[in-house]
Amino acid sequence: MEDLGELYQELILDHYRNPRNFGTLPGANRSARGHNPLCGDRLDLAVLLEGDRIADLRFRGSGCAISTASASLMTEAVKGRARPEALALFEKFHRKVTGREAEGAPEDLGKLDVFAGVREFPVRVKCATLAWHTLKAALEGDAGTVSTE
Ligand code: ZN
Repeated sequence: MEDLGELYQELILDHYRNPRNFGTLPGANRSARGHNPLCGDRLDLAVLLEGDRIADLRFRGSGCAISTASASLMTEAVKGRARPEALALFEKFHRKVTGREAEGAPEDLGKLDVFAGVREFPVRVKCATLAWHTLKAALEGDAGTVSTE
């Protein structure tokens, strides 16, 4: 796992040690649970939807640095956004971390770009996308646990 060293950039470590929007969310009206069996990451996500807008969201769980930091940065990225906007951002993020961006048209996703390096590590792609899959399930009202497998 030494080659992963460069992935653990400062921003990821910061969000791993001090995850934003971490905890429970009283009054949440959407929730979903995510599990990445390959790495053991677990995530509970609670969302407060007001109309079609993500008014607030929080997560809990235990996972590796990448999954925790990704969850933290995901909550920052989608808070306040309309549901379709958040889902569109997930699509962009997914293309970014799987290396399927359109040729010659890299998209600037701000802080989320820190995860672009995981495309070299398929197992880590699951860690980075777990929170997003869980968000999608919460927004679409799917019951049960989302698994990356
Ligand atoms: Zn992980």
